[in-house]
Amino acid sequence: MSSECPKRILNGPCGGGSEGYCEVDGRVCPWVKLFKSSKGHLPKAFTEIILDRGFKIRNYKPQKRTPLSSLMSKIANGKLVLTYEVETGKGKDINSILTLVKELKEYFDAFNFTDNPIGVIECDPLPIAYTVMRELNVDVIPQITCKDRNRAALTSYILSVIALGIRNIIVTTGDWPHLGGSRYVKPVFDLDSVRLVYLVRLVSDLGVDFSGRRLNTKGKIVHVGVAVNPHFKPLELELLKLKKKIKAGAEFAQTQPVYSYEQGERFIKALKEYKINIPIILTLTPINTEMVRLLEEKLKIPLPSTYKSVLRKCTSWEDTLNYNLEYFTKLVSELTSLDISGFHIITFGNIVLAREIAKHVKG
Ligand code: SF4
Repeated sequence: MSSECPKRILNGPCGGGSEGYCEVDGRVCPWVKLFKSSKGHLPKAFTEIILDRGFKIRNYKPQKRTPLSSLMSKIANGKLVLTYEVETGKGKDINSILTLVKELKEYFDAFNFTDNPIGVIECDPLPIAYTVMRELNVDVIPQITCKDRNRAALTSYILSVIALGIRNIIVTTGDWPHLGGSRYVKPVFDLDSVRLVYLVRLVSDLGVDFSGRRLNTKGKIVHVGVAVNPHFKPLELELLKLKKKIKAGAEFAQTQPVYSYEQGERFIKALKEYKINIPIILTLTPINTEMVRLLEEKLKIPLPSTYKSVLRKCTSWEDTLNYNLEYFTKLVSELTSLDISGFHIITFGNIVLAREIAKHVKG
């Protein structure tokens, strides 16, 4: 299977495929093909963690851990949490990031820092997240993907996260790096998200790396989050993959953006049907009319027709802001009735919007 997949994934389809087609070469994703042809007799690759020969410790089964970060403690106590996504930028001054987080820190429980989203090159999230944590005393969640680093570099990154006292991380397989604009960037994909989750747990729980070499990290907890796409087709395949991530040691999941109560409700119902139990943080991303195409065509995120049509009628920045304020404050009020652990808010640096949505969540 991995030989047919450009990202050499061993554990089910990546989030980059859309409606069964590969984001890299447009062919039918072999994972989707295999899934459709094997209904009722799913091969192990859909249900068991598949590790390659480089993993010398293969029988470790990560267990539930006592929450250590402030974010995970709040989730464990049943509090609805709010996280905010910070773009690390193309070299903007760290002070502008600090100013943004300072403005929002009383409203949000943790701040995510992206790792070259859609292959677009930005600052490394780790030093930025660390600086924000140290300067402002907030909980942070740097992201890490498999696209630019091999397993040695990924291990080094995990070690640094632990050494710096950061207590949460989000791991994903990552987008194909050419999407960011240059075909000369070498895609790495030495691991996939499931193997990376497992690697984090090996390092954090047992104090060993993929090859079983001893490290000084045994019992030093870093909580692992993952991504999940409520719009993936077929959704069953995405849920099978989420189950594998949980088996590998994932402790919370953040979704792709949702835009209606129905989208959120359908997804939460499906999780229950598949007996999946992991704290779910729903992502909300207010956009402007220019972003409609990106979301619908590239990311395959369905937008409700009323939302799109009102956005198109907005003639100024203020109109768009006001409409998004009205739309998302209503939406969060509805979505809080679902069995979720919180919301992840992306406003691309818009402080007013972020604050108002947060105020509605916190009441
Ligand atoms: S969509 Fe993802 S998993 Fe499927 S073949 Fe393409 S890169 Fe591999």
